Amino acid sequence: MAVKKFNKTTLKKFKMTLLEERNRIVEDLDYQKRELNKTITEGSGDLSSATYHMADVGTDMAEREKTSLFAHRQAKYLSDVDEALGRVDAETYGVCAICGELIEEGRLDAVPIAKYHVSCKETQNQRNHNQ
Ligand SMILES: [Zn+2]
Repeated sequence: MAVKKFNKTTLKKFKMTLLEERNRIVEDLDYQKRELNKTITEGSGDLSSATYHMADVGTDMAEREKTSLFAHRQAKYLSDVDEALGRVDAETYGVCAICGELIEEGRLDAVPIAKYHVSCKETQNQRNHNQ
C-alpha cells in the first residue's frame, strides 16, 4: 500500500497557512505579555493608582488571570501549530493519525492543526468515554 500524503504544492499551501497562523499567535502573545506587564508595573496607568481601592485590585487580578489563561491557551495552540509544521516537513501532514487516510482539504483549511478526521476523533472520544 502506497503511503498516503499530500503533494508538495498542497503541503506548501498549508505550510503558508500555518506560518501565518504562527505569526498571528506570536504577535498576540507578545501583545498579551506587554499588556500584562503594563498592568503589573503601571497599575491603572496614572496618578490615581496612588489611591488604589481594594475593588480595583480585585478586578485587576481577575483581568490578569483571564489574560494569563488566554496566553496559556495561545501557547498550547502555538505548540500545536509547530507540531503541524513539523508534519509538513516530514510530509505526513494531513494524514489522519487514527486511520492513516488523508484528511479532507476543506477540514484542514478550517482547522489547519487537525490531526484526525472528525469521524475518527468522535469514535476515539467515544472509546475514551467508555473506559
Ligand atoms: Zn481518519
